[in-house]
Amino acid sequence: MHFPVKEGILLRASKSNRAVDDVSLTIRPGETLGLVGESGCGKSTLGRCISRLYTPTGGKVLFEGTDITHLRGKALMPHRRHIQMIFQDPMESLNARHTVGEILEEPFIIHKLGDKAFRSQRVRGLLDTVGLPARSATRYPFEFSGGQRQRIGIARAIALNPRLIVCDEPVSALDVSIQSQVLNLLNDLQQEFKLAYLFIAHDLAVVKHISDRVAIMYLGKIVETADAETIYRQPRHPYTRSLISAIPVPDPHRKVQRQVLEGDVPSPIDPPSGCAFHPRCPEAIARCKVEAPELIAVDGDHQSACHLSECP
Ligand code: SF4
Ligand code: MG
Repeated sequence: MHFPVKEGILLRASKSNRAVDDVSLTIRPGETLGLVGESGCGKSTLGRCISRLYTPTGGKVLFEGTDITHLRGKALMPHRRHIQMIFQDPMESLNARHTVGEILEEPFIIHKLGDKAFRSQRVRGLLDTVGLPARSATRYPFEFSGGQRQRIGIARAIALNPRLIVCDEPVSALDVSIQSQVLNLLNDLQQEFKLAYLFIAHDLAVVKHISDRVAIMYLGKIVETADAETIYRQPRHPYTRSLISAIPVPDPHRKVQRQVLEGDVPSPIDPPSGCAFHPRCPEAIARCKVEAPELIAVDGDHQSACHLSECP
C-alpha cells in the first residue's frame, strides 16, 4: 500500500508485541481522522506512536515529510511542538501539584519561548480561548470539574500552535452534555488554528460528527477506512457494520440491521488465524479461518479488509 504524502502524517507502525500490526494511516493537514475500535485493539498505542510518546519498534512515522520515528531529545523537540496529545483523563497529564498557570507556562519554558511577561500573557490568552476565566491560573487542577480540566488539557495542547493533536478518547469520561461542549470547542479550535486531529474513540457515535474520515481498527489492524459519510452509509466490513448497529440513536440513513457482537476481543498477542475477526464474524466463510484478508480499495478512497469485500 502506498500513500503519497508530502504534508500529511504517514504512519507505518508495527510493534513486536503486536498491539499494533503493520498499520498505514495518513492524516491530512486540517482534517479529523476518527480512529475507532474496542478497548485493547491498539488504538491508544498507535496514537502514542504517532505523537512519539512511544517509539514504534517497527515501521515509520513521517511528519510533514520528515521521518521522526527514531528521533530523540533535541532532534525530536521541534517536532514535538507540532504534535500534541489530549488524554481521556486530564488528571493523567496535568501535574496536580502545579497551578493551572504553571501547567500552561511549562511548554513555553521547555521550548525556551519568551520571557515571564510573554508567558503570563499567553496563559491568559489560552484560558480565554478555551473558555476559562483568567483567575483559573492561580488554582489547582483538582479545583475544576472534569469538563473544565479537559479544557485545561486542551489549552496546554494548543499552547505551541501544533499542527496535529492526537485526541485519545477526550470525551469518554464526561457527561453527554459536557461531551458536546468539549467537541464544539475542539471543532472551533480546528477552524481557528487549522489543526489536524487524530480522534480516537471506542464507539462510532462520538466520532460521527467530528470526523472527515474514519479508520476502523480491530486487533491492531485497520480493517476499514473511508470518508465519514461513506463509513456510516455503506460500511463494507462486518465489524464496522456491528459497530454502527451498536449506535443507540435511531439513524434514518441506517440501512444496517442491529447486530450484536458476541465474545470479547481476543488477545492481540495471540490473534486468531486467518481473518482475526472470524470467531466473532456473523458472515464468516471457510476461507476466513485460514487466510487473512488484505486491506484493499473497494471504491476510490474506501478500503476494506474482508474477503467478502473483494467481489462487489
Ligand atoms: Fe468476516 Fe471473513 Fe470478512 Fe473476516 S474476512 S470480516 S471473517 S467475512
Ligand atoms: Mg485507549
